[in-house]
Amino acid sequence: MPAKGGNLDNLSPSQTKQLLVRALQLLAEQVDQLNELDRALGDGDHGTTVGRGVAAALRELGAMAPTSINEIFVGIGKGMMKSMGGASGVLYGVFFQGAQSAATVVELTSSTLLDLLECGLKDLQAKTKAVSGDKTMLDALIPAIRCLEQSRSKPLPEALRIVAAAAEQGANSTIGLLPKIGRAKTLGHRACVAKDPGATSVAIFFRGLAIASQEPIAS
Ligand code: ADP
Ligand code: MG
Repeated sequence: MPAKGGNLDNLSPSQTKQLLVRALQLLAEQVDQLNELDRALGDGDHGTTVGRGVAAALRELGAMAPTSINEIFVGIGKGMMKSMGGASGVLYGVFFQGAQSAATVVELTSSTLLDLLECGLKDLQAKTKAVSGDKTMLDALIPAIRCLEQSRSKPLPEALRIVAAAAEQGANSTIGLLPKIGRAKTLGHRACVAKDPGATSVAIFFRGLAIASQEPIAS
């Protein structure tokens, strides 16, 4: 029976899989925008790479009958790691696969989502030397996760709406920053004016999660 949209909390693994599938589909709709941003800062492939990663993640999820939320995140990370290539493939892969080292989660709430994302962020920060303000995906990811920490007692749809806004603000904050790491670094001050594509894809992913959490999800 379909659950009522906008009132969902405590999602089962199967409902969480539906939520993630929808969010990934929404991310895949933005590949042109992401390629365009990457043309100003890099080699113009971030959207294509993300699109390939999403397709592989959806293939991993397709046959999965998850018994934990961790499995879903790890599956997405595996798909992305295998297929995406480039700097962002490894980084997205490591981030999602961080759920492997989190305590087993069988119900998705704002609080358990935070636990999974925290593990991903920890692994990602061990992988990259990038810090806040270096004009990378971390400039959207860190504020999103800090915001979820503040919202961890709120119902998931409400928390995700606030988190998506924080991620978007983080992505917008990369406009004007000097890139300190990755391919964009070689452009120096010419790259300041551009918005970081990786931070933008992170923000689009969180917006997709927020949208998906407002929609009906079958139980
Ligand atoms: P590539 O730069 O290899 O072509 P993509 O175009 O797919 O990879 O992704 C570029 C994005 O990856 C950048 O906008 C940035 O957000 C992120 N990125 C690149 N290198 C790093 C890094 N070392 N740490 C964190 N994020 C990075
Ligand atoms: Mg690129």
